Amino acid sequence: MLLHTIEEVREQVRKWKKEGLTVGLVPTMGALHDGHRSLIEKSVEKCDRTVVSVFVNPIQFCPGEDLDKYPRTLDEDCTLCDKIGADIVFAPSPKEMYGEGHILSNDFLTYVIPPYFYTDKLCGKSRVGHFDGVCTVVNKLFNIVQPDFAFFGKKDMQQLIILKKMVKDLNIPVQIISCPIVRNTEGLALSSRNKYLSEEGKKDALALSRLLLNIKVCYNKGIKDVRALAETAFSFLNEKHSLEYLEFRDGVTLEAKEVADDNTVVFVAAKVENVRLIDNIELK
Ligand code: AMP
Repeated sequence: MLLHTIEEVREQVRKWKKEGLTVGLVPTMGALHDGHRSLIEKSVEKCDRTVVSVFVNPIQFCPGEDLDKYPRTLDEDCTLCDKIGADIVFAPSPKEMYGEGHILSNDFLTYVIPPYFYTDKLCGKSRVGHFDGVCTVVNKLFNIVQPDFAFFGKKDMQQLIILKKMVKDLNIPVQIISCPIVRNTEGLALSSRNKYLSEEGKKDALALSRLLLNIKVCYNKGIKDVRALAETAFSFLNEKHSLEYLEFRDGVTLEAKEVADDNTVVFVAAKVENVRLIDNIELK
């Protein structure tokens, strides 16, 4: 069932709750691929009812980013959700979510701002305000749908860590379910933005997953020094890659590691053909 308004979703969820059914929420920006599919499947399996939100959230895009050209494929998205067994696709307009006018400026909208310590690093460094936009929209979706469970991918590990922190700090009554990264057969992490890459670009992009996997192999062989592990990455990179960061951080607190351990996550971001790609690996 495709719904566009908050009121329609609330009404449907109210009925389900009255019947004592559990509700799962899978927030997405659409252009669904097998990564999203795995989240939706998990929700359908775990919950009595599943809501998939499809919303390209304007307030999480920075000036100059790809808000206007972000792929929008709502018909195909609905077909896929139907096939998997999701009950509602919630696809609101920006106006439905934020109202009219200047509301998108944070002079006119109440934002949920996660702690600076979590957002001044990794993607937050180049995407200033991005996680404020993410936390604000996810909080709104939680209030609209009131899910028992919400499903997020480890593909966006910093986002996942920040959302877990938000739920804990604000006592939001939802359980976050973390889902593994889905990759293509060669190892490239699936992303809606991969559509911007040429076939050659997709091959070049494999360097990210390969250097991460190699770091994990080295870690398992006993190399724990983060600088030594980072050194191993450079042989995977060439002039086609513009590296933004390669960092070793704690998987809960995002603190930097000097010595890698089982709680370490290795985060990488790089541009290939001017498309910004991110990936990560847990060393455990
Ligand atoms: P997006 O539509 O990019 O905002 O992503 C919606 C949700 O799908 C987020 O929780 C992402 O982390 C998750 N997701 C996106 N790509 C993947 C992937 N390759 N594997 C697992 N989860 C993913």
